[in-house]
Amino acid sequence: METRAPGRALPLVAIIGRANVGKSTLFNRLTQSAQALVGDQPGITRDRHVGRVSYDDHAFLLVDTGGLTGGEDELGALIRRQAEAAVAEADLILLVMDGKTGPLPGDEEVVAYLRTTGKPVLLVVNKMDHPGRDEVLPEFYRFGLEPLYAVSAEHRLGLGGLLKDVVKRLPPPVGAAEAPEAIRVAVVGRPNVGKSSLINRVLGEERFIVSDRPGTTRDAIDTPVSFQGRDYVLIDTAGMRRPSLREPGLERIMVLKAVRALERAQVAVLLLDASEGVTAQDLRIASLIDQGGKGCLVGVNKWDLVAREERQTVLAQVREGLHFLPFAPILPLSVRTGLNVGKLFTWIQKIHAQLGTRVGTGELNQILKDITGRAKPPLFRFRPVKFYYLTQPEIFPPTFVVFVNHPEGVPDAYRRYLVKQLREKLGLTYAPLRLFMKKRQRRGR
Ligand code: GDP
Repeated sequence: METRAPGRALPLVAIIGRANVGKSTLFNRLTQSAQALVGDQPGITRDRHVGRVSYDDHAFLLVDTGGLTGGEDELGALIRRQAEAAVAEADLILLVMDGKTGPLPGDEEVVAYLRTTGKPVLLVVNKMDHPGRDEVLPEFYRFGLEPLYAVSAEHRLGLGGLLKDVVKRLPPPVGAAEAPEAIRVAVVGRPNVGKSSLINRVLGEERFIVSDRPGTTRDAIDTPVSFQGRDYVLIDTAGMRRPSLREPGLERIMVLKAVRALERAQVAVLLLDASEGVTAQDLRIASLIDQGGKGCLVGVNKWDLVAREERQTVLAQVREGLHFLPFAPILPLSVRTGLNVGKLFTWIQKIHAQLGTRVGTGELNQILKDITGRAKPPLFRFRPVKFYYLTQPEIFPPTFVVFVNHPEGVPDAYRRYLVKQLREKLGLTYAPLRLFMKKRQRRGR
């Protein structure tokens, strides 16, 4: 099972299709494993399965979903959600249809839905292992997904050609000579904490290479810089203070600008003024960062003004004031003297890598077993609360979904325990992390 790769993860391919078209068989053939259940009963594959496929110099993860079109019963809805999660995660989608039955009502909708995702979709027509089947093939052209891949998963026909085209469409393998994307950093804080000074210092220092002329948007100035081989775009909202400092509604404008800058950023640098500590305005901005699920680094600026004997107290007060951002490192900073300005970027990079962490399903479920085995939640209405499995549908921030029989029966303290344990086991100490609980009846197989 795949382990997590900070930064760029393996590409992901999702197999989508209605029940009984042969998704599991295809998954098995491509991963050459027997992870998925195969049977004659429609709907027998109910979990998501993930396996690794290697072909030529390429490797990717393949996800087998339970089927996009289940019934409207609860199980069908669950399967649908999972398939949607897999699609959201995927770099490419294999849509499997049945060459024995031909296109079915509802297929059109699935194709239309997949189109809205903007992801490449390859249409795989399975069970093409009888001479007469070729006659149904033209019917599949109506979906406008060409070329068609006529295969027989069971008899291993046509799989080589399919794999060849799959890897052609995937992002280049990790390690390919291509610069990783720039890390987008919003420099936020209330007026006068030193945002402009920070940007200017960065622009003025030789070790930061200004790679391009800054661009402007309506609310912010984007400054691209490189530092120690990494590219960053600094999104600066400092300009806001000029026209409106004395105007009423300043707070609203400040918040709006911060929201807009944060929207485009992955990591926020929240600048504070060391001599003033955490003020109400700082808290407003901090909670925006929290709501947005952004990475956060707190820069306690003007450190040169803090007396040596007060330093510990100031840091403790900041930590306490921002207790709802426990993952945010707090860094004393002096833009004036240059203290820790370089370190700021080392931290940003670390946070960014954690935000992009993707963890394989196998590893996640092992961890879930460990965590819930060690301490169990209390009974809910005299019944045990059971955790079934854990998936990670998203990165930026890493977002996890745990399926549980009684989500309402999980006390807050236990939820915090889960999050804390997840952080520790995955090494996600500096990034926000989201955990959702979803209801699942029982493991029906
Ligand atoms: P902005 O509104 O957040 O962009 O803040 P500015 O960058 O305009 O800085 C506000 C004031 O704080 C200016 O007078 C700066 O010179 C001063 N300042 C910025 N950084 C530091 C620092 O590290 N130490 C000290 N003592 N003053 C600073």
